[in-house]
Amino acid sequence: MRRPLIAGNWKMNGSKADSIDLLNGIKAGIADIQKASVAVCPPFPYLYLAEDLLRGTAVAYGAQDVSREECGAFTGQVSAAMLKDFGCTYAIVGHSERRMFNGETDEIVARKYMQALSQGLTPILCVGETLDQREGGKTEEVVARHLDAVLDAGGAEALARGVIAYEPVWAIGTGVTATPDQAQEVHAFLRKRIAAKDAAVAESVLILYGGSMKPDNAMELIGRTDIDGGLIGGAALKAGDFLAICKAGDANA
Ligand code: PEP
Repeated sequence: MRRPLIAGNWKMNGSKADSIDLLNGIKAGIADIQKASVAVCPPFPYLYLAEDLLRGTAVAYGAQDVSREECGAFTGQVSAAMLKDFGCTYAIVGHSERRMFNGETDEIVARKYMQALSQGLTPILCVGETLDQREGGKTEEVVARHLDAVLDAGGAEALARGVIAYEPVWAIGTGVTATPDQAQEVHAFLRKRIAAKDAAVAESVLILYGGSMKPDNAMELIGRTDIDGGLIGGAALKAGDFLAICKAGDANA
């Protein structure tokens, strides 16, 4: 039985004051969420606020990225050990915005994934196709390549210790959500591909959907067999919307 996870990706939004408000808002409503797991991923400088304000609550937190290196002369990067030091549970790796704007390759993403694991963090591996790739019939090829980079680096055991997020690039921040059928099709494909390596891992690994998930479409998406929750961008910036999506996760637990 997979327990749904709702994770908020705040991206590069908000101030210190906004982050405090958002964390307190989520904290105030979390008692209503009984079964789903909940996490937030604030920008790096505000992780200490999550550590302070979420202490003793059921809300976990994580970072939006992690260095592929262990430590040393890598100016501007943040290591997995540092994230662990601040009490992070999760680290997002391979978000399409990092693949696009920071030139992250599959190899780099796989190294980040393995670094996160090496410190006991749970990596959230983002996979997903662009609109051109979808229209060119390449969705499965692209998500398989994203997934295989980690399978090749760490095997099914590595996937067993992480979370996957299917995030069609054309749905991220656009207000155009994949239909539940479109999303379910890709989630089932990913699970089948993992099952070819290890059936037990395929059965247990969480595969989240991300891409304009909102309170009004979350229930239907998370209700699908292979959709185990959501990675939420825009709607994670309002405590009320985020908690409403968490409730949809709860209802499907
Ligand atoms: C994301 O960036 O991970 C995301 C899913 O964003 P949004 O919900 O805004 O589409």
